Amino acid sequence: MPTRPNILFIMSDDHAAHAMSCYGSRINKTPNLDRIANEGMRLDRCFCTNSICTPSRATILTGTYNHVNGVTTLDTPMDAGLQTFPKLLRESGYQTAVFGKWHLGEHKSFEFCPEGFDDWAVLPGQGFYHNPEFIFKGSRGPVQRTVMGYVTDLITDFSLDWLQNRDRSCPFCLLYHHKAPHRHWNPDEKHAAMYLNEDIPEPDTLYDDYANRASAAAAAEMRVGVHMTQLDMKCELPKNVSEHEMRKWAYQRYIKDYLRVIASVDDNVGRVLDYLDADGLTENTVVIYCSDQGFFLGDHGWYDKRFMYEESLKMPFVVRYPKEIEPGSVNSDMVLNVDFAPLFLDFAGLPIPKGMQGRSFRPILGGETPPDWRDSMYYRYWMHKAHHNVYAHYGLRTKRFKLIYYYSDGLNQMGALDEKYEPEWELFDLERDPAELNNVYADPAYADTLRELKAELHRQQAAVGDARYESDVD
Ligand code: CA
Repeated sequence: MPTRPNILFIMSDDHAAHAMSCYGSRINKTPNLDRIANEGMRLDRCFCTNSICTPSRATILTGTYNHVNGVTTLDTPMDAGLQTFPKLLRESGYQTAVFGKWHLGEHKSFEFCPEGFDDWAVLPGQGFYHNPEFIFKGSRGPVQRTVMGYVTDLITDFSLDWLQNRDRSCPFCLLYHHKAPHRHWNPDEKHAAMYLNEDIPEPDTLYDDYANRASAAAAAEMRVGVHMTQLDMKCELPKNVSEHEMRKWAYQRYIKDYLRVIASVDDNVGRVLDYLDADGLTENTVVIYCSDQGFFLGDHGWYDKRFMYEESLKMPFVVRYPKEIEPGSVNSDMVLNVDFAPLFLDFAGLPIPKGMQGRSFRPILGGETPPDWRDSMYYRYWMHKAHHNVYAHYGLRTKRFKLIYYYSDGLNQMGALDEKYEPEWELFDLERDPAELNNVYADPAYADTLRELKAELHRQQAAVGDARYESDVD
């Protein structure tokens, strides 16, 4: 077999693309993450198929949609017997490891520990920023213990230590997966003083009033200020202030901590990139940085994710592989989290199992978009109402339009709430309304477009084997 590339798959948790300077961030600088983009490619339309941690991670590992892998919500554990790309890579001679965030099933017992890795150390559940507990693979079974230090530094230390001591006779696949910048945003001492004497620019839609949309937007309980707690703000909440004032005040406190924990991720990724250089690994290693989904950074007045709106749907994805990727390239083809596993297998020279639903985008990274590449994508959020009162929905995004159907039913999914509401549709013309503020579903000017989009939505559902909701009829 010809020399196969190493794979360094860096993933963070809830890092929105618009908080990376290579994506044009107005609010922070990420020089080390930008290095990957500058020396490789930035993908501008990388989307998740369900914008929430555990389901996105299950999709990434298995290359299947959540109705197929069964991980529809945060509470649906992943079946350890499912086929995953790390298992296949390991069987084919790769040395594999995962360090950091895993979050597939609750780790109260050890039954959901990572499978398919020569070594691993993962946080139980969400884990903590300071002095976190880790579960280690252990030579005689998993061991859980507290490790003193800051979580982002520790995950990097474990990863570097493993790289230094790896078996150099075979290629490696390392999943270096950060907890940051997941809520509650607790910076380390090194970055705690950043932004102290400045105001961070506010997003254009911070004071969104949710007019001209389906009722789901106003119902969501993830408004900056209003739905945040003392744990988020690290101080007592002001009393008797207007919602407008509350959003203004809380946005600054929230976004500064969010950016501080990202600064630590950026520093630590820099350490690992330096290590690759020093060890002569840069040429033959595919390096990816992405996040498991996007996040609202005060956009629409929100924090969190879940919605199919752009800030949440879009995953940052930058990739470097000098042998195949032109430095400084940018691509806007639609690539999905379901495509990651096929991509990794493709790089390893392995066939894509029939059950995997994604498609390798290696040709795209090489600058050649296959003529039959997708120009629309299917999305579904299942976790009806739980945590932030976001209604269950599915939809279609094309290059210009987004169609969303809030079927608003938990459908007995574990972790979803058992309440039903009248379904509602939203249609956005992203060319005229990129901020998604004006639902044109009922506008007669879009009647023909709407008919085509609904037909395409149903075609895609059938193609991936998902069932449409009972009231969604032609
Ligand atoms: Ca996440």
